[in-house]
Amino acid sequence: MTPGNTSIPQRVISKGDKCSNYDTHLKLPSQIGTDYGFKRKIVWFNALGFVALHLAALYGYYLCLHARFFTVVWMLALVLVSGLGVTIGAHRMYSHKAFKGAWPLRLALIMLHTLAGQNCMYIWVRDHRQHHKYSDTDADPHNANRGFFFSHIGWLMCKKHPAVISKGKTIDLSDLEADSLVMFQKTFYKSLYAIFAMALPIAAPIYFWNETYLNSLFISYFARYIMVLHFTWLVNSAAHLYGTRPYDETLKPVECYLIKWISAGEGWHNYHHAFPWDYRAAEFGSHYSLTTFVINILAAVGLAYDLKVAPYTMVQHRTLRAGDGTHHIFGKEAQITHGDIPYTQTPDVDEGYFGDLKDNSNRSLTIKG
Ligand SMILES: [Zn+2]
Ligand SMILES: [Zn+2]
Repeated sequence: MTPGNTSIPQRVISKGDKCSNYDTHLKLPSQIGTDYGFKRKIVWFNALGFVALHLAALYGYYLCLHARFFTVVWMLALVLVSGLGVTIGAHRMYSHKAFKGAWPLRLALIMLHTLAGQNCMYIWVRDHRQHHKYSDTDADPHNANRGFFFSHIGWLMCKKHPAVISKGKTIDLSDLEADSLVMFQKTFYKSLYAIFAMALPIAAPIYFWNETYLNSLFISYFARYIMVLHFTWLVNSAAHLYGTRPYDETLKPVECYLIKWISAGEGWHNYHHAFPWDYRAAEFGSHYSLTTFVINILAAVGLAYDLKVAPYTMVQHRTLRAGDGTHHIFGKEAQITHGDIPYTQTPDVDEGYFGDLKDNSNRSLTIKG
């Protein structure tokens, strides 16, 4: 038998077959990594489209100085509710299944997510599940190892990396395919976008308080739309780059204090990537996250249920084992100040894994010695 004549099929990479070099079939996320030499192909239609959208949004912010007061309030209200449609609906409920929603809540969240205009729920969730599964590798749609601009907006201005395409096909979306509301939005997305993201937001100020068409178009649509996009994108960019890693320093995402405010509580991103199924997306509860605060209210009135929380012992063990030492209780500075932290409990992944609602934010800490 000659050396090349084995029973294992050999991949032949021809010169023109560029995708073959990035075939990630059967590769683990850690094996994919980031190829910094990869040349991106710019999609000029998207790039110029985003430039035009930003110029229109800037004009909208300028028009706020001359518009009716209620139009500006209307824009900010739309930013808030459409943002919550993304954080509560697309992110925590649909992408991570961190809680379940009754159908009136799911309907409302689908409408608010359409208002946000960040593609249909099906695509949003696919990209986000892929982002978690292959975080900060070439198979992550917005790989933060490629820098702030790429992970913020650049990824939407160029052709997808072949690894994103090949791994994107492996993401399980069977739960969304079984959800008739999600599939209805997917099928009729363009029409629904025209109604919920454009027609209704623009028409309301004109109809109810006699705003001009021009002001309403640029403020209620362009300015509002771009503002929510940037708030969302900052979680992909800044919250992967600027902050601490108290829960797991092997993960690139960070605890980013600035982003926690402007993204309604999505800035605790090191925690979120360590425990993505925790509905709070943070170690602590509603005091630190508007999104968690609203989910708690929805749970109190029965619209949200089966909320998942990471057990305290699990968080404790992960932090002590893998954190960067900046944790406020288990970090190095806290231990220098207070002495060794008792570390006698063992993680019990069953306790509270699916649906423990106890709020850990008031827990007490016993310091040894
Ligand atoms: Zn992330
Ligand atoms: Zn997530």
